Amino acid sequence: MMSVKIALAGIGKIARDQHVPALMASPDWELAATVSRHGSVDGVQAYDDFDAMLKARPDITVVSLCMPPVPRFDYAKAAILAGRHVMLEKPPGATLSECHALEELARAAGVSIYATWHSREAAMVAPAKAWLAGKTLKSLVVTWKEDVRKWHPGQTWIWQAGGLGVFDPGINALSIVTEILADPIHISSSELLIPENCETPIAASLTFTHPQGAQVGAEFDFRKEGDQFWNIAIETDQGSMILSEGGASLSINGEVQSATLGDNALAGEYPRLYANMASLVRVRGIDMDLSPMAHVADAFLLGKRVTVEPFVE
Ligand code: NAP
Repeated sequence: MMSVKIALAGIGKIARDQHVPALMASPDWELAATVSRHGSVDGVQAYDDFDAMLKARPDITVVSLCMPPVPRFDYAKAAILAGRHVMLEKPPGATLSECHALEELARAAGVSIYATWHSREAAMVAPAKAWLAGKTLKSLVVTWKEDVRKWHPGQTWIWQAGGLGVFDPGINALSIVTEILADPIHISSSELLIPENCETPIAASLTFTHPQGAQVGAEFDFRKEGDQFWNIAIETDQGSMILSEGGASLSINGEVQSATLGDNALAGEYPRLYANMASLVRVRGIDMDLSPMAHVADAFLLGKRVTVEPFVE
């Protein structure tokens, strides 16, 4: 099968760490151009203007957008109107309405659009979902605590409105929860800790209503030094399960089901996202599940704001 030419826009941390290696290793794709104001990839034609790339390269039929969420809409809209298929990093946009608008534009243009959720592709998410099926949920506790200085150095956009703060990683947990739970949940209380010099939360505490009354909650914290936690602990009527390392590890009733992936816990997620995109493009499909983002929007709607000490990187 012929590989499909793709352009990657927003050459920053995630593009370099995951998108470029995944594309280079895949027979489905040819990384034909980059678009970035400062970044480039060795051996790949680099543009610093998106519209110029769209105009100059009609042979590039797919674009993957890796910049932060606030600027992403304008790029996605331009790509769709130019007849290109679009893949969106998470979160798919800065607001729910703009994501709905992109989906409508894509439908009208007959192109694919894919709101990716990389954590759903973590190795043990599908086994966790399979184990949970048919069991009665008693409780689910998300603990997502990481050191922002270690994982997001210099990313000032995270602290600006639309950058999500601790929900930038927290939405990954919500993408797994919405994937593995059969029943819909909704937020019933939310507390947001916001540093006095920032526009977005550094920590958040959420509780959810579950249709069968299970206890569901999430604790997100960007201030965690030392051990880092990306865990979802679940109790059911038929035993317990802990999904850890962001979905890369699973233990059921205390028995570990998988080897840990250490520092490379994202391995495998991006190759699977690009395989999904290749399948979507073949049928001009659309995959725009916004449920993780709806929970984040609700957390902001219902959020009780508490001002905390300034964040200094
Ligand atoms: P980043 O390194 O701070 O930014 C990515 C690139 O986006 C920058 O290098 C910049 O390239 C471009 N950019 C920044 N502001 C822009 C603007 N206003 N207009 C146009 N381009 C802009 O961020 P990142 O960590 O790669 O994250 C980007 C997205 O990937 C986020 O949505 C994040 O949630 C997601 N993500 C990140 C990770 C991670 O581990 N970091 C993991 C999974 C998903 P130029 O200045 O060269 O144009």
